[in-house]
Amino acid sequence: MDSIGWNTTLLTGTSQPGVMFSPSSHADETSISFCGYPSTTHFVKDLKLKLVGVVDAGQKLPHSEMDYLVCSTFPEYVEGITTGSIQLANMMKNLAWYWGMPAQTCRHFDTPQNKTAVLQGVFDATKQLKERMDLTLDELARLKEEHMSTQAEKISGIVRSPVVNRYQLRATTVQRPQVSNGWKVDNSRSPFVPKITVKPNAVRSLEDSLRWHRQDGTTAPHPYQVELDMFVPEAKRLVASPPLPAKPSDQTHFVYVDTPDEFRAALNSLMSASEIAVDLEHHSYRTYLGITCLLQISSRTADYVFDTIALRDHMSELNVIFTNSAVLKVFHGGNMDIQWLQRDFGIYVVNMFDTGQASRALQLPKFSLAFLMQQYLGKIVDKTHQTSDWRLRPLPDDMLNYARSDTHDLLFLHDCVRNDLIKKDPSLQLLKTVYAQSKEICLQRYEKQTLDVNDFAFIMWKFAKNFSEQQKYALKKILEWRDDVARDLDESIGYVLPTKACIDLAEELPRTSDDLVKCLEFVPLVVKQKIHQVLSLLKDARAFQGVVPVPVSEFTPAQADTEAQDAIQRKVPQPVTGAEFVSRFLDVVPPVVQVAQLSWSSSESNVGQNTARNYYADIWESYLSVQSKENEEKETGPAFVAVADKPNLHVSVPKDLPLVDAGTAKTKKPQSDGAEREHAVYSRCSED
Ligand code: AMP
Ligand code: MN
Ligand code: ZN
Repeated sequence: MDSIGWNTTLLTGTSQPGVMFSPSSHADETSISFCGYPSTTHFVKDLKLKLVGVVDAGQKLPHSEMDYLVCSTFPEYVEGITTGSIQLANMMKNLAWYWGMPAQTCRHFDTPQNKTAVLQGVFDATKQLKERMDLTLDELARLKEEHMSTQAEKISGIVRSPVVNRYQLRATTVQRPQVSNGWKVDNSRSPFVPKITVKPNAVRSLEDSLRWHRQDGTTAPHPYQVELDMFVPEAKRLVASPPLPAKPSDQTHFVYVDTPDEFRAALNSLMSASEIAVDLEHHSYRTYLGITCLLQISSRTADYVFDTIALRDHMSELNVIFTNSAVLKVFHGGNMDIQWLQRDFGIYVVNMFDTGQASRALQLPKFSLAFLMQQYLGKIVDKTHQTSDWRLRPLPDDMLNYARSDTHDLLFLHDCVRNDLIKKDPSLQLLKTVYAQSKEICLQRYEKQTLDVNDFAFIMWKFAKNFSEQQKYALKKILEWRDDVARDLDESIGYVLPTKACIDLAEELPRTSDDLVKCLEFVPLVVKQKIHQVLSLLKDARAFQGVVPVPVSEFTPAQADTEAQDAIQRKVPQPVTGAEFVSRFLDVVPPVVQVAQLSWSSSESNVGQNTARNYYADIWESYLSVQSKENEEKETGPAFVAVADKPNLHVSVPKDLPLVDAGTAKTKKPQSDGAEREHAVYSRCSED
């Protein structure tokens, strides 16, 4: 933290704020130093790295409803979050003071336990900072423009047009491929129609497959349902053998494929492979349904990166390989990939092995590809490009290398996890389970996203509990409006109007465009263009007299179960006490968004607590019932839990898993028949 010159006392909030940027003691006297760095470039570079650290740490905080609820049953977690919040509030106050914010903004941070106030402070401060930034940028643009006009005048006597709005600039830096290529985009509410027109490796004909149980509702049948149902992993996949490491990238044949001729050549060479690794890169901001931008394939000897924007209409030919049950396709976390392949190219997958599912079956501490790379190859992966704009062309070298590296070692990693799965369960059941789960992923049928009533319900529950009927009505209408507009313009809902802005508008119900502009942190272009529509629906909302029904946002038991299993396997409560997050947070310029997140989370703790215990008890019940059947002899550690309403049942669980205190975990849970019964109570027994 000191390396960028932050004044430590300022950030820890213990004394009067002082000088923020101290001149570097190391810097060469003749060089211009910036915050202790040789140049602004160095500063920005380091700052970016640290921001990645913060985001990474932030992601370790529970971010699903379920994770959060589970976590908040742990006193260590709640305590960590509380201390963290206070520390952050102090820090924010001092920064606000230092930046010369109005007293009101600074005061918001005086009561860290009042999360709404803190949040308000964060938003105020952000708004004020942004205004200053805007002024500075305007000034900069003016100076640049002045300079360029002078140059242009000097050359041709032509005076250039006025400065382009920087939001437009930001929003139009990359050409939208759906527009420049004239793709037909169907954002309507009608169900997705499978794109497939030719069915290689067919057992049942394409026509019959698509007719097959057509009466099953609105989702089209899976064209490879029968073939997937029949699939069993080949015998040669179920034996351990020494993992085959990939050659280093610089000694591996690499092909970038972006013309039809190159595509045919690549397809030809890939036809001889009996196993390939596959990954996709995707863009979702400037489109409603999403766009697959790259497809990476690695064989044992070569890496291919397909430009799926240029080759969109050719990609389906890969079905020859992708649906061939004699060719193994290795994915890592292929859940979305399978859907994207169907949606954009009509590609289906038969014979898939998902190393993400394998990580779960092996109960590894993390399920990410980065973790596998580190575990089996000792490679530390730089994830900076995971969220880059993959539509960029020509693709910068570092992005290309990143994409390539996502599949380069994946076949080797498959070999490793396969061996470990066999080692862990020589009866091969575990390995076969991974194949079965991977098959389930392939059996998914892509469906277009819908504006679910639950979205409204969830946003209400999470952010807008105390809304009046008018505000609720406004929120509902705004969410519908942005969904309509996003479909129409083929933009994401987040691009049209971020959720936070929807809530702000519904809360403040501004009357005029001026008020609307003041109410939002920034006004998205689309809102500017359609401001009368927005004002008109807000007007309707102010006049609304009825009651808005809010559906209850609920997890289905199945969802809760998988999420809980994941949470348990990740041992959520341990890494997320907030301490690591706070310590990394202090390392950088305060990214206010994270504080906001933290505050939201903490403000839920009272509500969350009881619900969480209910969920928690439920989860444990199902978890334990499975474990008790399957796990009697497993070496899971010396800890035991006793189940209160089954006093004779003792089940072993992973030993470092903290459990809820028996005394406080008692909850009454309504049963499906309406009755209440004392719920199971679990506690950790003595270790022996
Ligand atoms: P990957 O499988 O990690 O290569 O990710 C595939 C695509 O998923 C990326 O191109 C992104 O569009 C999206 N994605 C992956 N991770 C993230 C993330 N942390 N945040 C947002 N998008 C992500
Ligand atoms: Mn992927
Ligand atoms: Zn990838």
